[in-house]
Amino acid sequence: SNSLLAGKRGLIMGLANDKSIAWGVARACAEAGAELAFSYQGEALKKRVGPLAGQLGSDVVIECDVADEASIDGLFAELRERWGRLDFLVHAIGFSDKNELRGRYVDTTRANFATSMDISVYSFTAVVQRAEKMMGPGGACLTLTYYGAEKVMPHYNVMGVAKAALEASVRYLAEDLGKDGIRVNAISAGPIKTLAASGIGDFRYIMKWNEYNSPLRRNVTIDDVGRSALYLVSDLGSGVTGETHHVDAGYHVVGMKAVDAPDI
Ligand code: NAD
Repeated sequence: SNSLLAGKRGLIMGLANDKSIAWGVARACAEAGAELAFSYQGEALKKRVGPLAGQLGSDVVIECDVADEASIDGLFAELRERWGRLDFLVHAIGFSDKNELRGRYVDTTRANFATSMDISVYSFTAVVQRAEKMMGPGGACLTLTYYGAEKVMPHYNVMGVAKAALEASVRYLAEDLGKDGIRVNAISAGPIKTLAASGIGDFRYIMKWNEYNSPLRRNVTIDDVGRSALYLVSDLGSGVTGETHHVDAGYHVVGMKAVDAPDI
């Protein structure tokens, strides 16, 4: 443990269970001395998120559906009442109809395109908009993205288009908030077996491919992502903003299949 976030308060959005990337990030931040609040989607998740938050010494657990402006306002109103100030925000939220995370991108429906962009892209801007008002210089916002934003990955489809827009929004938000000393970054995580990932077609194959072909010859864990998140939300990342930082065992630098990669 360390004291990189001692005296700092952070909101973690997108914790569903102990496999969630948000959990790896929350753990790293708590170990660094941060005081944490959690938001979760829907009553059903409360019985999972409450005890996990408790493990990290937090009793600030607030419902928030990011599709709903009033729900976002409610979250930040409660946070303002409890804390007044916010030092960092972690947005680990994405959604698309899983029927469209297989097959062809060209078959994406207008309705699911809109929903995917709303929940996976706009919601980050919506929460940063509120968080900004509670942050001062040194504030930091972080979201999660995937390589499917940059290159065509099997089955990622409309989520790839959404992540490309999310990464662009990180750059625009970085410019807007930079003048006030607030940083905005993204982590592009390699494939990790979570609830959200289980909706993606052939996910096991994608995991194997990454393991065999990434420079580190392994997949990343939620703790790998957590440690890099700690760098980006703490003063270790003080000169970094607008960045999409890859935490993918190096997969994004590779140009072709590794010569030693076994057949899958
Ligand atoms: P997860 O299922 O544990 O987390 C996704 C979260 O999004 C859940 O907590 C869910 O409740 C929340 N969510 C969905 N719709 C919401 C809404 N309307 N309001 C509030 N919350 C909502 O899965 P995860 O893999 O930890 O996903 C976290 C982020 O990481 C996502 O943005 C995902 O795209 C990204 N990511 C995941 C991987 C991977 O392989 N797992 C790789 C790169 C990036």
